[in-house]
Amino acid sequence: MSCIFCEIIKGNIPSNKVYEDEDVCAFLDIMPISYGHTLVIPKEHYANIEDIPEKILSKLILGVKKVGKAVKDGLGAPGYNVCENNDPVAGQIVPHIHFHVVPRKHNDGLHSWPQGKYGDGDAEEIAGKIKNQI
Ligand code: 5GP
Ligand code: ZN
Repeated sequence: MSCIFCEIIKGNIPSNKVYEDEDVCAFLDIMPISYGHTLVIPKEHYANIEDIPEKILSKLILGVKKVGKAVKDGLGAPGYNVCENNDPVAGQIVPHIHFHVVPRKHNDGLHSWPQGKYGDGDAEEIAGKIKNQI
């Protein structure tokens, strides 16, 4: 099965690379949320955060940290969002794990998801269901 990000790693599809080391590569997203929107990916193909071995995930998140600082320093962005869409229902289109680094500006009009409230007793029940799996 061909993977678009594996093809970018191999150099078969062009990209604007901003960082590369032995395990990690970072390049501009082709359809940026904001200028400088960067994708940080492992060179080896893993579908998502459950799939990727811890050692490579550690290297990947260090790549995210490097790119985040570079986005701030290089573009003068006062902040940025780090996001990983995990599975199609969460908006993951490319099944090769990637972290989005999205530079932000003051009053840039990008809003996060609406938040709600728990009903009586629901937070305790939900926390328990998660806790039991860890
Ligand atoms: P996802 O929705 O899977 O979290 O994000 C996939 C991202 O990959 C999208 O933001 C999309 O714009 C980006 N993308 C898809 N195809 C390409 C491509 O060929 N080159 C680059 N640079 N980015 C891509
Ligand atoms: Zn891949």
